[in-house]
Order: sequence, then structure tokens, then C-alpha cells
Amino acid sequence: MIDTYRHKGLRKRLVDELKRKGISDEEVLRAIGKVPRHFFFDSSFDQWAYQDNAFPIDCEQTISQPFTVAFQTQLLKVNPRDKILEIGTGSGYQAAILAEMGARVYTIERFETLYTKASKILHTLSYSNIYTFFGDGYKGLPAYAPFDKIIVTCGATNIPSSLKEQLKIGGLLVIPVGNKDTQHMIRMTRLTDQKYQEETFAEFRFVPFLKGVEKSR
Ligand code: SAH
Repeated sequence: MIDTYRHKGLRKRLVDELKRKGISDEEVLRAIGKVPRHFFFDSSFDQWAYQDNAFPIDCEQTISQPFTVAFQTQLLKVNPRDKILEIGTGSGYQAAILAEMGARVYTIERFETLYTKASKILHTLSYSNIYTFFGDGYKGLPAYAPFDKIIVTCGATNIPSSLKEQLKIGGLLVIPVGNKDTQHMIRMTRLTDQKYQEETFAEFRFVPFLKGVEKSR
């Protein structure tokens, strides 16, 4: 894989498009301008990588639309060195964006095939601050908790209590919650040990948050 001037130019246009659509966090826009999204696509689909659309990856999953990635990342208010848990590694693109912003990223995927593929790409891009895991994100990653931030990139029907418990006090959880067709983006802040505050944002459409794992065959 190479990152050409043409790719860089397309990325710059994508960043301008996201600005027009209301993304204002300069660090988020910088990260999107930096990460070569086409590395997360099979090379024959390279020309689709800088359109503001979701795109199919293996195992009938999708790489989220750039606007969705930017929106969720903006809600997370990422600080350098934040310890962030991502549920749903998928292609690995969202993890790369968070790492580009200086966060330490723990990302978990339930499809072994996707876990293996994303791990390879992230290694190629030499991010040393991303740790990939194969497992059921419904349980979170208790061995590495607590986290400053948690981002869920699949559509949930409820907010798993395991994830709420793995947030630091003052930490943020961004999760799309709804039914199988549409979900509202929710940001939950852990105020105290027992108290959480919830804010609701726009509607999105994610692949479902499912329990259990799928091994490669
Ligand atoms: N963040 C990804 C988006 C991938 S789509 C990206 O940037 O490409 C959402 C992913 O969530 C899918 O790969 C799906 O398999 C995964 N997923 C769904 N339920 C899960 C669970 N319980 N644990 C871990 N991953 C899960």
C-alpha cells in the first residue's frame, strides 16, 4: 500500500466536506486528514475510500462513514494519553483515528477474521499505541479497566452495565442505542460511582452489537 499525492488530495477534500457538515474539532479533522483510509479497503475498492460513505468490509460488516467516525470522536473529547476502549474494531480505521490523536487505544472485535486483518493493517501503519483484542465486547475489557473513554461502534439495544462500570469517574461513553434499523447517539458521563448523566444526539445506522464471538474457519 502506498499513500500518493492523489490520496492526500482526496483526504483534504473529505476534511473540507466534514467541516461543511458541521465537524469543528480541529484535532479530529487533523486526524482524518492524516490517516490513509484507503489502507483499510481492499485495493480494488481504493477509489471509494475518500467518499463520505460507509463501505462493506469482510464478515458482512462495514467501515463507518467518515462523518460518523468524526461525530463520535468529537463527542469523546479526546485528550492525548487518554486510555480509550473501542468496541467493534471492524476495519481498524476508528482505532487509527484515536491513536493519531495521541490516545492509548484498546479495541476489541468479535470476528476473528476482522481482528486478524485489522491488527495487520494497524501494525503496517506502525501505531504503537493500539492494542487489539479478539473477544466479546459486551463484557468490555475488565482486565484493563478503568478507561477514560469508551466508544461503541455497533448499534446497541441497551447500554451494557459492564461498560458503565469500566468507566473512570468523569469518563465518557459514546454509544449508538436503538433498534435494528436506527439508533440515537448517546453520550454518557460518569459523574460519581453511582451517578451517570445522559445526552442524546442525532440518529445513525450501525451494524448490530451482538453477543459472543465468531472464529475464523
Ligand atoms: N470501528 C469500525 C466499525 C466497524 S462496524 C471501523 O472503524 O471500521 C462494527 C463492528 O462491531 C463490526 O466489525 C462487528 O463485528 C463489531 N461488533 C459487534 N458486536 C460486537 C461485540 N459484542 N464485541 C466486539 N465487536 C463487536
